[in-house]
Amino acid sequence: MSRFESRGGRRRGRRVILALGLGLVFAAIGTSLRVGARPAVTVEAALPGLGRSTPIRVSASSTGRGLSRLIVTLHQDDRSEVLLDKTYVYRPAWALWGPQTVDEVVEIEVGSETVEGLEDGVATLQVEASAPGTWVRRAPSTVVRQQYPVILRPPTLAVVSTQHYPAQGGAEVVVYTVGTTSIRDGVRSGDAWFPGYPLPGASDNRRFALFAVPFDLDSSESVRLEAEDALGNLTQTAFVDKFFPRPFRTDRIEVSEKFMALVVPEIQANTPGLKPGSGLVEDYVAINRDLRGANAQTLRDLAQQSRQEFLWSRNFQSLPNAQVMSAFADRRTYVFAGEEIDHQDHLGFDLASVKRAPVPAANDGLVILAGYFGIYGNTVLIDHGYALMSLYGHLSSFGVEPGQVVERGEIVGHTGETGLAAGDHLHFTMLLQGEAVNPVEWWDAKWLRDRLKRKLGEAMPFVE
Ligand SMILES: [Zn+2]
Repeated sequence: MSRFESRGGRRRGRRVILALGLGLVFAAIGTSLRVGARPAVTVEAALPGLGRSTPIRVSASSTGRGLSRLIVTLHQDDRSEVLLDKTYVYRPAWALWGPQTVDEVVEIEVGSETVEGLEDGVATLQVEASAPGTWVRRAPSTVVRQQYPVILRPPTLAVVSTQHYPAQGGAEVVVYTVGTTSIRDGVRSGDAWFPGYPLPGASDNRRFALFAVPFDLDSSESVRLEAEDALGNLTQTAFVDKFFPRPFRTDRIEVSEKFMALVVPEIQANTPGLKPGSGLVEDYVAINRDLRGANAQTLRDLAQQSRQEFLWSRNFQSLPNAQVMSAFADRRTYVFAGEEIDHQDHLGFDLASVKRAPVPAANDGLVILAGYFGIYGNTVLIDHGYALMSLYGHLSSFGVEPGQVVERGEIVGHTGETGLAAGDHLHFTMLLQGEAVNPVEWWDAKWLRDRLKRKLGEAMPFVE
């Protein structure tokens, strides 16, 4: 009995070994055939061609065992350059789990800045993504080729006008011609940007840009005329002939608790999103600094709505019979109880006349804002065209509405002390592309004639 049993046991044992052996053979065949999935590849360029530097997004994905390699090359004529060659840890053929890279996204900058010897013409970007193979089967791979135009020459740019004499915090104009490939041209001045516009009545590709040197820029070194095409090719030229630095006055303002208790609740009540915080001084500083900053941004945004035409033809007007309480760009230190609580620049003129004095529009234009506007309280903003605007703040009342056409001298409101104001006065400023510029220049007919009209000619409808 026991022998028989043991014979049967051996037979079963052999069968088990045979089954195991067969299993191993099948597994070996299976794994030797188990290659990864053919990768999917997409190529997206951020610009319509290659210039200075075009960001190109390459996405590759492969399920199963993951990606094994990604190669990106750029070919032009008989030259080629490897822009990326990356290998990945993938799953072995016999493993069902373990690290692998299923999806990969890389962004490559392609252009004259990254590829040496690139020339005008056409170039081909080739992306090859591979998944792992086995010892008997080749690695599946996907090759995608994309052709791009290559343009490395920036638009042509030539200054036409002469005598560019800006002052710190002041404005000026430059007339120039630019090549047809330009999609963005104008004057860069520090962090500010002043776009160019077609010169009215000019037959050729003449353009002009009214620009400012911001009050906090004490050199004209960074002031440049520039033009850029759709591929990011950029040309720049310095054109300022003479610059007049203008050191601004400093001023200390004592802020009393009584003053803060007067202005803070009014501004909070009239400004959606502004709520009483931890204390009067903190709330005051939040208004003086943060709300002031937000208002400045709104003014830059509103500049985008300006009409592209000169809506005015005479010099700008000031408030009649007014006393200058504070001039343009005074640097103010705010002091409370002997401590400095804030620093801000006063970007306008404070003009005081009688109480509730009628406020005339400084020039012909279109009302763009009439309402409560942050630190400026009741405010009227008038567009004079080409992103030149005049602002009237702290009004007790106003009698115009957005969209209304106003004439030079027309009463738009009355002085007051709404917003961040102590005492009845008009806060007046001129803005170019939302940047505050010194109104003194715009009040001055001689400045307008010499600095603007002489260069713009018939394009500027100016009468003295
Ligand atoms: Zn003011």
